[in-house]
Formats: sequence, C-alpha cells, structure tokens
Amino acid sequence: MVEYDRLSREELVERLKALENGVSDRTQLPNPRSVSEEQYRTLFDNMVEEVHFWKLVRDDAGHIQTWRLVDLNPAGERSWGMARASVVGKTADEIFTTATEHFMPIVTRIFETGQPYSWETYFQDIDQHMRMTSVPFGEYFFTTGFDVTELKKNSARQEKLSLMARMATEASEIGVWELDLDTGRLTWNPQMSQIFGTEPKSLSHTASDWSDRLHPDDRDEMVAKLQTCIETGEKFVGNFRIVTPSGETRVIKARSEILKSESSGTPVLIGTNIDITAQEDLINELQVSKELANASNAAKSEFLASMSHELRTPLNAVIGYSELLKLMAADRLTEKDREYLDDILESGQHLLSLINDVLDLSQIEAGSVEIDEEEISIADIFDHVETFILPLASRKGLSIERQPMPPCLPRVCSDRMRLSQILINLLSNAIKYSPDGGRITLAAEIPSRHRIRLSVTDAGCGIAPDDQSVIFDPFTRLHNDSMTPAEGVGIGLAVSKKLADRLGGVIGVDSDVGSGSTFWLDFPCEPGGTTRDESCGKTSRPLMPADPA
Ligand code: ADP
Repeated sequence: MVEYDRLSREELVERLKALENGVSDRTQLPNPRSVSEEQYRTLFDNMVEEVHFWKLVRDDAGHIQTWRLVDLNPAGERSWGMARASVVGKTADEIFTTATEHFMPIVTRIFETGQPYSWETYFQDIDQHMRMTSVPFGEYFFTTGFDVTELKKNSARQEKLSLMARMATEASEIGVWELDLDTGRLTWNPQMSQIFGTEPKSLSHTASDWSDRLHPDDRDEMVAKLQTCIETGEKFVGNFRIVTPSGETRVIKARSEILKSESSGTPVLIGTNIDITAQEDLINELQVSKELANASNAAKSEFLASMSHELRTPLNAVIGYSELLKLMAADRLTEKDREYLDDILESGQHLLSLINDVLDLSQIEAGSVEIDEEEISIADIFDHVETFILPLASRKGLSIERQPMPPCLPRVCSDRMRLSQILINLLSNAIKYSPDGGRITLAAEIPSRHRIRLSVTDAGCGIAPDDQSVIFDPFTRLHNDSMTPAEGVGIGLAVSKKLADRLGGVIGVDSDVGSGSTFWLDFPCEPGGTTRDESCGKTSRPLMPADPA
C-alpha cells in the first residue's frame, strides 16, 4: 500500500496496463519508466492487502453489465479462499453471487467521476470488515482490500472500556487528570472541576490549575512528591488538602502513575482524585464521640465504684448486727424471729455479693484493678476453690470431681485471688445452672506446648450457639424455660472475662443445649518454660502467663 502511494497515478495506470498486457501477451509488455515489471510483480505478489484487477463488461448500448477478473494477488487468493487460476477470466457474479448488484454503485461512481473511491464493507457470513479502495483506468479498475476486522473489534472494545470507565468515574465521582510530560498540558475530567469547585473554562491547562489550589500547608510537600513521581517513575499515593474558590477546605485522596504510551512514545502522568472530606469528618466525629464515650464510661465506673463502696458500709453493718443479734439473743428469739433474721442475713449477703461484683466490674473497667502476681500451684488453687464452693454444691446435691492432673503440670505465675475468683464464678454458675444431683468436673490440661487450660464442666441446661457470644457481656442473662430462675444479675461472666484479659488469658465456652457446658480459661505459656513439676517434683523456671497488657 505504501509502495503504491509513492507512485503517481499515471505510473500506476501504466503499470496496470502492462500487467493486463502481460496477462494476455507477456511478450508485448511495455517497459515501465522506473519500476521493472518483475519488480512490480514482486510488489503485487507480496502486498498484504488483497488486490484484484477487473475489466468492465458493457452491453451493446455501452452500459456497464458486470466486470471480469483479470488478475488476483496471493493475498487475494488467501482472503477469497480461491486459486487465482480458477477465477481469472470469470465475471464478478460467477465468482461471488450478487457481487455485481452489490458493488455496481461503487463501480458506476468511480467510472463517472474518474476518481479513486474508498469505502468499508462488512461480510456478514464470515464476520469480516474490509477497507476497500477502487481505482478506475480506461476500461479497467483495480480494487485493494485490507482486513480491518481486528481494528474494528479493538476499537469497539476500546469504546466499551472508555464508556465503562466514564460511567464508573461519574458514578463514583472520581476525578481523573492527565499531564502530558512533554508539553506540560494538564487536562482533567468534569469530576475534577466539581471536586476543585472550578469552572472548566477558567482552567489554564497547566500544572498550576492543581498546585495553585493546594492548601498552603500541603503545597510544597505535594509538589515535591509529584516531582519525585515524575523523576523516578514511582507511583504516588497520598492525601492532601485543597482550598476551593469559596474558601472551603477539602481532603483529597490521590494516586498517580506514569504511562508511557507505546504508540506515541510521549510519557503522561495519569492520576485520580477522590473527595474524602465527608469520610474524614466522620472519622473525626467518631474519634470525638469515642473519646466522649470513654470519658463518660470512666465517669460511670467511678460513680459505680464510689456508690458500691458507700453501699457496702451500711450493708456490712446490717449483716454484722443481724449476726450479732442471732448470737446474743438466741434464747429470746422465737422460731419466726429466727426465720426473719435468717432472711435478713441471706438477703444482705446476696446484696453484698452483687455489690462486690458491680464494684469489681467498675474497677476493672476503670483500670484500677491491681494484679498481684506470684508463682502458684494449680492444685492449691483447685483445693481453695473447692473448699469455698462445696457447701453451695452440696445444697443442690451436686458432687465436684477433679480430673487427674496431667503429668508435669507447671506452676503458673499469676494472681492467686483473681484466678480463684474466676474459677469460683464458673463453678457457682455450673451449680446454679445444673439440675439437682449430678456432677461438676474441674480439670487442668496442657492442650499444646504454648497453653495451659483450666475448665469447669457441668451437665446443666447448656447454652445455644448464638447465645454463647453474648453471655460474656455485662448484664446479659438468658431465659431458659427448663430452669427455675437462678439468682444473679449477669455480671459474673463479664467480670471473669475482664479478669482473664488482665491475667493474659482467654475465657470461652463449649456447650450443647440440653447436655451441659464446659467453661474454660486458657493461659499462654512459653514453649519449654517449665517450673517445679507438680507431679514429677522437679524445680525449674516458672511458667509465665503472657504479659497482661
Ligand atoms: P448470672 O449468672 O448472674 O446471670 P453470669 O454473667 O455469670 O450472670 O452469666 C450470664 C448468663 O450466662 C447467665 O444468666 C446464664 O443465662 C448463662 N450461663 C452462665 N453460666 C452458665 C452455665 N454453666 N450453664 C448455662 N448457662 C449459663
């Protein structure tokens, strides 16, 4: 095609005539001025475009009837899927049905105007788009055809992608800009103008459209960053502030990178800007609300702590004097008096234990619980809690069984009182939520080299999977129809969880409704860190729970 462009039309016509002569009588070939027939034939045979030569067929009145093929190059043979020898000499319709009818307007046109004509045509049955050019000369014309199917498909794909990108940027209000690094021209989409609060007409299309609108405190840094991005080719990702013409400050999330266009070779910097002012405001508001909530939580905890303290003093007096009265006036009290006195004592003690729980929770939440760590033996802790809990268990006819201790169970470094408090909470729940009779199991295990687990298992009502995640929240109690309502306010597990956190442990539950629950407390331990082996009787380093951060 390029070769043809270099020839004048006259030269081309001359060569075509020569070719036609060659087809009929090769000895008669005229000698072209600058290109030999051989060279011309080589060009014709090697052109990537299909080329076909036709001779008009007219009726007696001189009207064009059809045209007959004079020659076809190899690209044409490939494109048509026909051998040259099988088609040369045939009319258009003999080669392709309805070709005359289809192309008559074009052939008529080029012979009426005497000018070349280019057009595009689509062959539906083979899904092919061709760009054709027909050139008339004398009673002949030739047509070149170039397959543009891929180009068409690519440009359709490109159009679709551009449309999708435009719709996405419009819907998500993303500003897109482009800086030509050769010319320094800056262009941006309408969303950029919206974000920057500018009229598209007022833009100078230079980098100052952007830099002049940067917040003065961010300008130097951002300009330097963009410069680095241009020099090093590194991607830029960051936030900066702009000031709109109305004086409003907006926060922009930006990213940009260099695109080196393969076709033009011109490097361009492409970037996106998103206005995140609303999100930033929201984050700031949330931060303020969080601080306020923390402050009011601390105030609540402080209030509860002091209230609980104030309540305990008179309550201790009520309990103390009731006990004294029971002792001192034992012989003067009637059966009914004693019953009333027992009720006062029991209610007082119950109230005291609730107040203690509330006080504990508020102190832990206020961060004022001291942890007093020492090396302790799990067996000692089990002895202690068992003694404490047995009277409660026996009232319901429940037995407390201890699983055999695993061999080489290490001593742990923890707070004796707080660890006991957690286990007592778990054991008293096991008693509360188990039917009379039956068994509660207390166990210690070493599930992995990094963990030690203490657990309390009951055969009580069990806890549904959805409820298992909420029972550790303060003041959460479940309604279990199969049980008579148990005393409590829903603080015990919340306190136990917070204490476990403070001790560097994790508390959890495995449970099936109707079959019972296992509440467990895990401590992390240093691999290989051992202490005096409780069953082996050796002494070594203490096993430390994780730092209670
Ligand atoms: P309280 O026992 O005072 O209600 P807790 O915080 O100790 O408060 O327990 C919260 C809730 O978890 C209880 O009300 C009960 O519904 C459920 N729960 C706790 N331990 C058990 C258990 N061993 N078996 C069944 N349900 C339990």
